[in-house]
Amino acid sequence: MRFGVVSDIGRQRETNEDGYLVREPVFAVADGMGGHSAGEVASAIALATIKESLRAIPQEEAIPDLLIKSIEKANAVVFEKSSIEAEQRGMGTTLTVAVSLKHNFYIGHIGDSRAYLFRDGKLTQLTEDHSLVAELVKEGVLSPTEAEVHPQRSVLTRALGIEPSVQIDVSVTDVKPHDKILLATDGLTAMLSNSEIAELLGPQQDPQRTCQKLVDVANEHGGADNITVVLLEVDQQSVQEPKAPWWKRILGGP
Ligand code: MN
Repeated sequence: MRFGVVSDIGRQRETNEDGYLVREPVFAVADGMGGHSAGEVASAIALATIKESLRAIPQEEAIPDLLIKSIEKANAVVFEKSSIEAEQRGMGTTLTVAVSLKHNFYIGHIGDSRAYLFRDGKLTQLTEDHSLVAELVKEGVLSPTEAEVHPQRSVLTRALGIEPSVQIDVSVTDVKPHDKILLATDGLTAMLSNSEIAELLGPQQDPQRTCQKLVDVANEHGGADNITVVLLEVDQQSVQEPKAPWWKRILGGP
């Protein structure tokens, strides 16, 4: 699997409270929030906890459960830290984690960072934003276009580390060679429309260059927030089943 990653402070913030994890087959982005740089602490703790919990990837059928347990653990660790340290009270983070296994991507998610699938020129959002405006769109109160420019568009309905327990979305997506999976914080998605993102994902080029291009355009559009992108490109090899042992290949059979 080829991948790229860029995390950028943007043009208007003084710190970068986003974070990422890139350790094949585990990839994640997190967007921390809280005063006194507490957001930076929250995203870093969440990612470190995930990294540790997903050190060994079990049998495929156990992955969804492990993803939930790992994110619950991250929630507990961030929540506990925020209740001990006065400066970090109320800190939290979004977290979008992707685990790739053969032809499947398992995604665990909370908050308004996003995972997208880019296939045959078409961009599909794989995660649901846990935000006030997303709720209002679902209820038909706002149109998706109104939501994009709404003054309260960054208000979250769910985040990690804010409450003692947490509700996590887990999904699975099957992928084909040449598919791309994009993980991004809202510093990208607030600055670029889905069609602008799709246009930049189209050309066949090194994923690292594409990530840099996405971040550059977000900055050209104002760079109002920290921007973090992880781009994964599925190749032929990564979707292959493991090879049968040599004696089975010679003798045939299942
Ligand atoms: Mn953000």
